[in-house]
Amino acid sequence: MLDLKNLYRPKSPEEAVRTLLETEGTGLYVAGGTIVVPTGSPSLDYLVDLTDAGLDYVRVEDTPDGGALVIGAMTRIADLATSPELASPTLRAIIEAAADMGTHTTRNRATVGGNVFAVHFPSDLPPAFLALGASIRLQGTDGPRDVSLEDFYARRSEVYRRGDLIVEIRVSVGHEGLASAFEKTGRTRVDVAIVSCAAAVAVSGGTIEMARVVLNGISPVPYVAADAGAYLAGKSPTEDVFREAGRLVSENVSPRGDHRASADYRRKVAGVMTARALSRAAGAV
Ligand SMILES: Cc1cc2nc3c(=O)[nH]c(=O)nc-3n(C[C@H](O)[C@H](O)[C@H](O)COP(=O)(O)OP(=O)(O)OC[C@H]3O[C@@H](n4cnc5c(N)ncnc54)[C@H](O)[C@@H]3O)c2cc1C
Repeated sequence: MLDLKNLYRPKSPEEAVRTLLETEGTGLYVAGGTIVVPTGSPSLDYLVDLTDAGLDYVRVEDTPDGGALVIGAMTRIADLATSPELASPTLRAIIEAAADMGTHTTRNRATVGGNVFAVHFPSDLPPAFLALGASIRLQGTDGPRDVSLEDFYARRSEVYRRGDLIVEIRVSVGHEGLASAFEKTGRTRVDVAIVSCAAAVAVSGGTIEMARVVLNGISPVPYVAADAGAYLAGKSPTEDVFREAGRLVSENVSPRGDHRASADYRRKVAGVMTARALSRAAGAV
């Protein structure tokens, strides 16, 4: 249970970073609080509440490679799920992941930044963002910098410095013919995932030009199924090919069992989720 001495509400990302690093004692950022409030330790002295830091926005920006969807870290999951900027086959995995997350009450509080930051259970948005090659903008003491989301998970101790604030998530939207889909299985519809999977597929002239498959729930951080992506490139987008990609995923992963599901169940479901996500993504191209 929390036993705070102070709660700060900085007015900008820069002030948030300064407040977190320069305040005496032990502190944390708090966004929607759906993780921090129920699990926060009594040894926490203060929270830096990001509500007024100006990070609640979804917009499309012009970029040299055809545009980027930019999602502020304080965007609520419920707002993301209904955001008109995401109404395209390319970004469908993000909409589906957001719409499937927890209950209405959770989605109304929970934020995109909190979902991306948290890794102690399988968050829903990271597979969708990773399948679409997203990057995140971090604010540190020496200014903002962009980091690939894949590096953020795979090499967190190297790319993430103490006090860094996630400012926004950036997804390139310039790849024509790219479509995506998200699949999730859990104990109940509102529980966190046992296994989730996002796939992004680009088909050109009847063959798969590029495919990315990312799963959560089968390893400590989201798993990028590079073998499945390599297998799919240049193949026809058929159900048999998607099932074979799923089989490769099942064969290559080594999940752990827990109170939600056994390792064996996770391995099998990972293959099924992969084939389904690929099929639905390819069907939307
Ligand atoms: C009943 C219930 C059901 C849930 N179901 C699901 C589910 O189905 N799927 C799912 O993915 N999650 C689920 N969750 C988990 C949680 O709601 C989400 O992960 C949520 O998006 C976390 O966001 P938040 O804003 O509430 O994070 P917070 O609790 O505010 O913060 C979480 C962590 O992220 C850090 N943080 C937050 N924002 C930033 C930032 N901008 N920069 C740096 N660090 C930051 C905080 O310091 C903290 O360590 C559920 C939670 C509950 C309570």
